[in-house]
Amino acid sequence: MQKDTLVFDLIRKELDRQRSGIELIASENFTSLQVMQAMGTVPTNKYAEGYPGKRYYGGCEVVDEIETLAIERLKKVFNCSWANVQPHSGASANAAVFLAVMKPGEKFLGLDLSMGGHLTHGSPANFSGKTYHAIHYGVTKDGIIDYEQLEAKAREEKPKMIICGASAYSRDWDYKRIRAVADEIGAVVFADIAHPAGLIATGLLNDPFEHCHIVSSTTHKTLRGPRGGVIMLRNDFENPWGIKDPKGNLRTMSQLLDLAVFPGSQGGPLEHVIAAKAVAFGEILSEDFKSYGKQVIANAQAMAKSFVNRGYQLISGGTDNHLMLIDLRNKNLTGKKAQETLDKAHITLNKNAVPFDDKSPFVTSGIRVGVPAITTRGLKEDHMETVVSYIDTVLMNTDDEATINKTKDEVKAFMQQFPLYPELG
Ligand SMILES: *Cc1c(COP(=O)(O)O)cnc(C)c1O
Repeated sequence: MQKDTLVFDLIRKELDRQRSGIELIASENFTSLQVMQAMGTVPTNKYAEGYPGKRYYGGCEVVDEIETLAIERLKKVFNCSWANVQPHSGASANAAVFLAVMKPGEKFLGLDLSMGGHLTHGSPANFSGKTYHAIHYGVTKDGIIDYEQLEAKAREEKPKMIICGASAYSRDWDYKRIRAVADEIGAVVFADIAHPAGLIATGLLNDPFEHCHIVSSTTHKTLRGPRGGVIMLRNDFENPWGIKDPKGNLRTMSQLLDLAVFPGSQGGPLEHVIAAKAVAFGEILSEDFKSYGKQVIANAQAMAKSFVNRGYQLISGGTDNHLMLIDLRNKNLTGKKAQETLDKAHITLNKNAVPFDDKSPFVTSGIRVGVPAITTRGLKEDHMETVVSYIDTVLMNTDDEATINKTKDEVKAFMQQFPLYPELG
């Protein structure tokens, strides 16, 4: 068969793009070569609906071993007793959690999208907001989760589930406080750790498993694995809603979650991606990944300091994790303008609403900046000042094509010091 050069040339072009730019999108990372190699393999050919040992198709004995290995490694990573590694993405993992816990029309409480939450936490544009009754908490004027508002809404509205977790929040979470109010009203606490999971896995942030009933995550952000999702329980429990199996026994939460993934919301699992998840979880258990986590936090701290020194306004004044949210209004810039101009200099990040934003979600007043990807490339604290100086140069010269072009060349030369996938030539 002839090689499909059209597609492979484009893939090559994407590799060159990734190599020559500064990647600051907080949800992105670079997997190891092994993780990618595992993804491009033969388990992609296999149908394996069901779970290890309980499949609907023959010939699953090897993918059973692959999936079991992924589950066992993930359990070790987060010290939990049960995990499902089949969700195709973070959004799919969350869809399954909703399906397991909530009936259509029932009420849940989540962080407002405009305050840093995620679409799947009750946006009207998403299944979560369309199918269920979403109510929201926000952040205070200082940019910290408004726990008092969360508690007041929980007591007043008595939601069945409270979601903690965010896509654009730079501080750690008080899971204990959320669990306390949930216990008062009999709600389930669901932590979506899609963003900070890698820092939680390395013990650098509060442990949500101590206080939350259910935890979901993506696998491709700070966990540095293939694109995908997972759901986990530290301690399994019988569902409090009286849902029984055909023999009349109360179903456990793990059973409800397994059923919600398959057959509830997905078909056949992506066993080649599950193989890559297993590789990534193996990497997370290594000492190297511990140093990676520490370096992510050190880089984020150094970067935040450089921005503050240049007069940028960080929401909440700084960061505890891998990202920061910057309000550009004092610089007379919108998030849209900043993103588009930085793109021209091969610095990639995203515009982001800031709390109490007066601009539309298509324009926004802010940008979200994350360090997981540049940390994987090998940048250290000292390099953060250089990165921020490039950003500042571009943002202070948005109408000066010559300066933007010159910065683009400097960015490309700078990033050549940090090889990406040298094995790929
Ligand atoms: C990224 C993210 C998700 C969704 O992950 P996808 O893999 O893009 O579906 C869910 N929740 C939060 C908080 C996220 O940041």
